[in-house]
Formats: sequence, structure tokens, C-alpha cells
Amino acid sequence: MKTIRHIYNNLINELSYVDNPKNETEIIISEYCKIPKQEIYLCFDNIINAPEENQIYSAVHRRQNNEPLQYIIGYTEFFDCKISVNGSVLIPRPETEYLVEMITKARFNSLLDVGTGSGCIAISVKKKRHEILVDAIDISEKAIQTARSNAEQNKTKVSFFVSDVFKNVKKNYDVIVSNPPYIPLNEYEELSPEIINFEPKNALIAEEDGMYFYKKILNEAKEYLTDNGVIYFEIGYNLAERIKEAAIQNGFDKIEVFKDLNGFDRIMRIH
Ligand code: GLN
Repeated sequence: MKTIRHIYNNLINELSYVDNPKNETEIIISEYCKIPKQEIYLCFDNIINAPEENQIYSAVHRRQNNEPLQYIIGYTEFFDCKISVNGSVLIPRPETEYLVEMITKARFNSLLDVGTGSGCIAISVKKKRHEILVDAIDISEKAIQTARSNAEQNKTKVSFFVSDVFKNVKKNYDVIVSNPPYIPLNEYEELSPEIINFEPKNALIAEEDGMYFYKKILNEAKEYLTDNGVIYFEIGYNLAERIKEAAIQNGFDKIEVFKDLNGFDRIMRIH
């Protein structure tokens, strides 16, 4: 008979090589023993039953094989939303919450999220600002299915459809937002095995040294923006200058770059 304390200490040890063993241990125990994270320590003397113990160790083994914890438990928390994830969508990143925060503070009536993946941007904007019309597109049918079920799970109305960038888009929007794939091919191989072996490659890499989607969106955006429409991009840390050039070439003249908490260029606002 094992107690939660026993399993807890063992997991901290088994997961000692991850960035934050305590956090991952708490998430795993909370998930499979169905106790809120903050109550784990109050339940240290509880006995764990065999099915729970099996689930916990099968999760630990997957984790030891470098699978991201979010895919193992099947979801992540993102800007007050619970977002389900699987191998056909990128795991939403904390940096992207900053983009959402900025957008939710702006005044506008309609938004298109290009390359929505799990739907995290579109859904979290809609959840905060019910009055806004939110549409979202992705080239991947499987991503669109995941995003639709995430919208339902978060009780938000977003219209999701398959489209290769603007190909199937028929309306104009006040805001176009995108966190497109932006990893240059030659940098992809250097990413961690957690990313390379589990996250969808087509959600990460972009031709033209990471610039392909920024250029494509900037070249075509005016047809899909309203008169004073604005583009928000999440960007690769070294792409701001090249994106600025592409924006100027396409007749945009207000271009702002914002840094993330680590001091890297992360968001651009273009109009
Ligand atoms: N828009 C989604 C996100 O921010 C997916 C991004 C992507 O697949 N490149 O997580």
C-alpha cells in the first residue's frame, strides 16, 4: 500500500531531469488522483489505489520518453481557458498569452486568427470579449476539429474553417492575428526532442528563413482588413527587421515591436 507521499517523493526523483520536477509531479498526481494541486500536501497520508498508480507510472514513462506533459494529460491552461491538445496542434505557449492580453485591451469588432492550431488565441479573445466576432482558420482539418471542440469546452462561439492562409476567407476584419510557423529549416534540427519528436512540424517550420507566412499574410492582408484594420503577429526573436521591411513594401506605415518578459522581440502591431 503506497501513500501519496511515497509516490510524490518517487516522482520528484524520477523526473529530476525536467525543468521543474515539483510542478510536473504535482500536475501528474493532481490529474490522476483527482485532487486539486494545492490540496496534495493535505492528502499526503492517503493511500493510492492500483489503477491510479498505474496511470501515474504510465504518464511518468511517457514523460521520460520526452513527451510533453501537456500531450500526456491532454490539455494546458491558457489565459483562463482549458485548451485540449494532441499531436496535431502546437502546445500553446505562455508568450502567446501576452499577445492575447494586448488584443483584448484594443477596441475593435471583428477578428480573424490565421493558423489557429488548438484555437487558443481565438477562443481566449472571445471568452474575454463576447461582443467581438471571431473567425479562425488553419490549413489542417485535424487542428480545426481540435479547435472546435476547445471552443465548445470553453463555451465560446468562434467560427473555425479550413483555409490555406486567406484562400477560403470571404470577409474583412478589423484585426488579423497570427502566430504562424516561423522556425527556419536549419534551426529546426536544434530544437529539443520534446518538440521535434512530438509537436507537428508543419506548425513550426517556415520556408524563406522563417519569413514565408509573415510575407504571405502581409502581401494579401489589405484585401481582408477593414479600412483601419490592424495586424498583430507573434514573431521569432530575430525577425522584426525583416517583417518591418515586408510591411513597408506592402504599404503599411505604423509598425511597432514589443518585447516579451525575457527581453526578446515578440509581438508586432502593424497598420
Ligand atoms: N495559433 C496557435 C498558437 O498560438 C498555433 C500556432 C502554430 O501552430 N504555429 O498556439
